[in-house]
Amino acid sequence: MAIALAVHGGAWNVPDGEVEPHRAGVATALVAGWTLLRDGASAVDAVEHAVRILEEDPIFNAGVGSHLNRAGRVEMDASIMSGASLEAGAVAALERISHPVSLARRVMEASEHVLLVGGGAQTFAREQGFERCRARDLLSGRERERYLAIRADTEGARELIAREFSPGGEGRTDDSHMGTVGAVAVDRDGNVAAATSTGGTQDKYPGRVGDTSLIGAGTYADNHAGAVSCTGWGEGILRVVLAKGVVDRLAAGEDPSSAANGALRTLERVGGHAGFVLVDHQGNTTAAFNTPRMARGLASEADGLWVGVDANLVRCPEAE
Ligand code: ASP
Repeated sequence: MAIALAVHGGAWNVPDGEVEPHRAGVATALVAGWTLLRDGASAVDAVEHAVRILEEDPIFNAGVGSHLNRAGRVEMDASIMSGASLEAGAVAALERISHPVSLARRVMEASEHVLLVGGGAQTFAREQGFERCRARDLLSGRERERYLAIRADTEGARELIAREFSPGGEGRTDDSHMGTVGAVAVDRDGNVAAATSTGGTQDKYPGRVGDTSLIGAGTYADNHAGAVSCTGWGEGILRVVLAKGVVDRLAAGEDPSSAANGALRTLERVGGHAGFVLVDHQGNTTAAFNTPRMARGLASEADGLWVGVDANLVRCPEAE
């Protein structure tokens, strides 16, 4: 079977000065995941590995570099799904774990549940031998400064962020940082998988959970159709169950670009701003977004490795 992999590092208005580190970050994850997949790894292993690398890169809003919530704490969400078995695992409002995606995988494989949140997820992590990191290990200087600016309301920072939550997303600006990470893959056996990880939205209410940990909204994978990982304004993504919407279109026989465009049209009904990467079960891969930019990388045997943040992708130099 033809293998394929796609990764992303968020769909939003990435500032010009941050384009290159975003491109480089997704390129590193793409090459690492692709190398695994090419050497025969499963789709689940490849997406977990790619997302772990993105969680370690502070340029993205996941793992290290996660946004702080209104109480000054990092609360992360993550999920993973296997398209072969339709098994899935997820965690939400999780603190002090460096790789939420790996804990989500453990929920999938070692518990009878799909989603564990807050204190329960924390206890499960301890039982499973996951090390608790220090809160400051997840904190980047950028996020500390953003938090202080919002608290001090420098240059209307709080108003900017608050508008993100207005009904229907009206007035939401794309300046809000949205660097969620994710990956989708199809392996040699034709199995697909998807994984997504995030620090959520800037200045979110403590306990807020977005789309990322909700199977069907932020993440979905089904061998009969394909796999999808989303990023963007979570409240909008949730209301249209975006990832499952794309997969349902693939299952109905639409090609990837028609499925992607159709799902984006549905998202527009709630004024949503988002993007996603997808693979279909035949090894075709694409990304779609209605934000100004999206950090992403696509790899397939037919086309090689491509990365980019703007409309056009370039060949991935890190793969040469
Ligand atoms: N979708 C994420 C959330 O709403 C945010 C992001 O994509 O950066 O939690």
